Amino acid sequence: MTPPSDKDRAFRIRRRFPLFAVAGLMLPLSWLLAAFPAFTESVYAQNVGSWLARGLSMVSGFFKFSLAELLVLVLLTWSAIAFGTASYHVLRRQRRLRNALAGGLLNLATAASILVALFYVCWGFNYSRPGLIARMEWDAFATKLPDDEALAELDRLCEELVDAANQAYFQAHGCEDLGHPSTIVNSLEHVDATIERAYVETAEWLGLSEGFAAPRGCAKPVLASNLMSWALISGVYSPWTGEANFNRLQPGLGLPQSIAHEKAHQRGVTSEDEANFFGYVVCAHATDPYVRYSGYLFVQRQLLRELGKADRDRAKELIKKRYSGVQRDIDAEYEFIRRHVSRVSQAGAAVNNAYLRANRVKGGIQSYTQSAWLAVVMSRFNGGSCLVGPSLDAQNSAACSWLDSPKSPDNFAVARGASSASPATREWFSPTWRWRG
Ligand SMILES: [Zn+2]
Repeated sequence: MTPPSDKDRAFRIRRRFPLFAVAGLMLPLSWLLAAFPAFTESVYAQNVGSWLARGLSMVSGFFKFSLAELLVLVLLTWSAIAFGTASYHVLRRQRRLRNALAGGLLNLATAASILVALFYVCWGFNYSRPGLIARMEWDAFATKLPDDEALAELDRLCEELVDAANQAYFQAHGCEDLGHPSTIVNSLEHVDATIERAYVETAEWLGLSEGFAAPRGCAKPVLASNLMSWALISGVYSPWTGEANFNRLQPGLGLPQSIAHEKAHQRGVTSEDEANFFGYVVCAHATDPYVRYSGYLFVQRQLLRELGKADRDRAKELIKKRYSGVQRDIDAEYEFIRRHVSRVSQAGAAVNNAYLRANRVKGGIQSYTQSAWLAVVMSRFNGGSCLVGPSLDAQNSAACSWLDSPKSPDNFAVARGASSASPATREWFSPTWRWRG
């Protein structure tokens, strides 16, 4: 009979200590770098980190599918095989249970250490960069105004953003209401290319580096988007592969902004409020009216939520000015979220919050709404307006060619068939969590 320890493994723990030590030092190192933000910006964010992320994005960009999703699948399969083999040996009394458990934990710690170390080296140290307002030297625009002036400013911005989203909706579809929730007008590849071009325009307009403007690999639709929907995740950036991944089943109105948001992460933007901000500004620079619609509607909703806290009646009044097609899209998104809120999504939000706090993002998940403040600061830089990008004439001529182009097939059937009732007052009663990655 085989002795019980025949398949017992020797662990050679000492050999793994350097790896564990490196991984364990990453988080304290990121805190240390945060104490020297200018150094981190010039040495890591603008050089080492930028080149690493661009290189990864270029290589992974050759593949049309998500390498990150494949990586997850490989890791899960490897874990399942290792678990199955160890269980078999334990049941056959060829390996002691204690040895199998210790081996499993050690392998898990090794894999986690490799992932953590690569996470920080490839991207995570960007958490230690100075904030966008400091990087842009916008401090003079970021002063707090007296309450009445701040309210008047917010009111004016909300009104122009309601008009901007209405106008972009009309330019994309040629009417005020399609009669069903809208979605992208052309292919995902076209949206991706449009957003990449808009990043060049945005970088030029804001005076950002050539590295920021440089192209990145295309955003990838995740095959397991259903799982993302149940976790209420619209997109995920993979620092290990430099890939912007998005939920292909999400309602159309958020899709371009979501892709632009993930593409900001590809460019070394770590904080969610800054990625949301770039998601809006870049979409607003796009030549495709539906992409502009997605960006303007996103920031409109963020600012209206702020206005609603101070002057609910005025916010309601502005919401009523939305085209019925725009409100229909928002209602469809609420319906989508309502159908997917679950223990899974709530647990996902808690994990995301803990992750953001560990990386010293002030306010955890609340940081998602701070992009509203970035939009206000940018509007002051922009002469008091949130409208950016192509001039009105250019937008109108671009709209003509779009109106002639064929409509895409319905990628977002899940959003269709939502109630046509439009209780517009729900706008700021929505859950406070955002479903962003
Ligand atoms: Zn994000």
